[in-house]
Amino acid sequence: KPKAAVVGSGIAGIASALRLKAKGYEVEVFEQNNYTGGKLHSFRRGDYRFDYGPSLFTMPHLVDELFGLFDKSPESYFQYKRKESICNYFWEDGQRFQVKADKQKFIEEAAEAFDEPAKHLSDYLQSTQRKYELTSSLFLEKSLHKFSTYLSQDTVKAILNLNKLHLDDSLNEVNEKYFDHPKLVQLFNRFATYNGSSPYKTPGIMSMIPHLEMNYGAFIPKHGMHDISQSLTKLAREVGIDFHLGQKVDEILYENGRIKGLQINQEKKEFDLVVCNMDVYSAYSSLLKKATPPKKTLDQERSSSALIFYWGINKRFKDLDLHNILFTEDYSKEFDHLFNKKYFTDDPTVYINITVKDVEADAPEGSENWFVMVNAPTNCGQDWAAQTTYIREKVIAKINTCLGTQIENHIEVEHVETPESIEAATSSFQGSLYGTSSNNKFAAFLRHPNFSSKIKNLYFCGGSVHPGGGIPLCLLSAKIVSDLVPQA
Ligand code: FAD
Repeated sequence: KPKAAVVGSGIAGIASALRLKAKGYEVEVFEQNNYTGGKLHSFRRGDYRFDYGPSLFTMPHLVDELFGLFDKSPESYFQYKRKESICNYFWEDGQRFQVKADKQKFIEEAAEAFDEPAKHLSDYLQSTQRKYELTSSLFLEKSLHKFSTYLSQDTVKAILNLNKLHLDDSLNEVNEKYFDHPKLVQLFNRFATYNGSSPYKTPGIMSMIPHLEMNYGAFIPKHGMHDISQSLTKLAREVGIDFHLGQKVDEILYENGRIKGLQINQEKKEFDLVVCNMDVYSAYSSLLKKATPPKKTLDQERSSSALIFYWGINKRFKDLDLHNILFTEDYSKEFDHLFNKKYFTDDPTVYINITVKDVEADAPEGSENWFVMVNAPTNCGQDWAAQTTYIREKVIAKINTCLGTQIENHIEVEHVETPESIEAATSSFQGSLYGTSSNNKFAAFLRHPNFSSKIKNLYFCGGSVHPGGGIPLCLLSAKIVSDLVPQA
């Protein structure tokens, strides 16, 4: 049987390993850390469990599909439930709003809360669905770097409807066209952060993102987010995929334009095919030093990063749910700081994720596990210790204003991650969460392809390559890789 190696056990690495195994390859995964999952892992502090990275889960069928490849029933490995209420929003002027999963309820309640004609909301949601349906098969499910993609009917349809895709307007401009109330514009602008971009720069086509959450739904795994990577790792081991943990790959080996294998700890290992799940920027600078890097692709702006406080809170807050947003007063200033000034604004938007709301075992009785995240600029050598101290104070002040509490008196456990530490733990260049940003209309075409055009049998998956970052897109990148790989 031909032998395939996967470099990195992020969600896309695990999914690629499973798909290659299903295609008949012998598969080995090499991971530098001593755990699988990459950004999608979990850790404990005291009596609290925390998910390290992702907290929002959409399109769970992409995970289920992987169990189906081996005729296993997904439910016996991985269970999840759909959230009835998607997110609680707070503003400092005292306004609060809960987004319900039921679309009609959302439209009625938002129309009332923001004094916005219901038609604006229903028209908007319809347009997000239309954008998604027109473009998903082109931008998300196929390689953009194969000629055949451009011959398909779907592509022709998308091209004929280009005017409906709002490629020349920013997301903010599109949202301002639909909504009168600035808070609704802000609420829908936030979706740009789902791929680490700015609503003032990312094209209006990104207004398809709310469709994923508001039409497909938002979900929470029964045992927390890390269960996505851990249940898939369990399946992978059962079907005979070897995981080598604590093994950092030093070089991808090739000869005469064809893959030869990997170099790990001075040792050469032969493989017929390699899938690289390491951030593609870091891969060119460390694993493929002799290859000519695709400069234009690698020069693309990175997506934003994050500063995260993981707090064990010895109190329960009934006004909070799984996902909570405490908005800044000045969103455009926040993004100007993130992408241009590269420092935090003095009034950042604060996201609080609390899994114990749905996963009882995650915190002791009467307590909550808070994942408190602020969007951060990428790591360009800022003084993160000083930035952390600065932003901690602002975050606490915002929480206290919005929730009427003294949160500093309830923090009994604390752990902090910065763009610098995220970069160190995951090898994501500059600590970006989602690879390159989508801050221009060509971003989708400038992402690195899922294969190398110079080295035969070298493939790429994960958040830094096509179709982009976030769990669903990473899973789709693995699917595209497996579609490109021949049957063993
Ligand atoms: P990664 O998770 O980046 O893993 C790559 C792996 O490769 C790592 O395990 C690394 O150790 C390994 N590796 C690198 N170099 C080597 C080497 N030389 N040898 C061996 N191994 C190597 N997404 C969502 O969908 N929803 C969210 O709510 C969300 N929130 C996020 C919040 C945070 C704080 C973070 C950090 C990310 C968030 N994301 C979210 C993004 C999501 O986590 C990523 O897009 C996705 O997990 C990336 O997966 P990946 O397959 O690209 O690999």
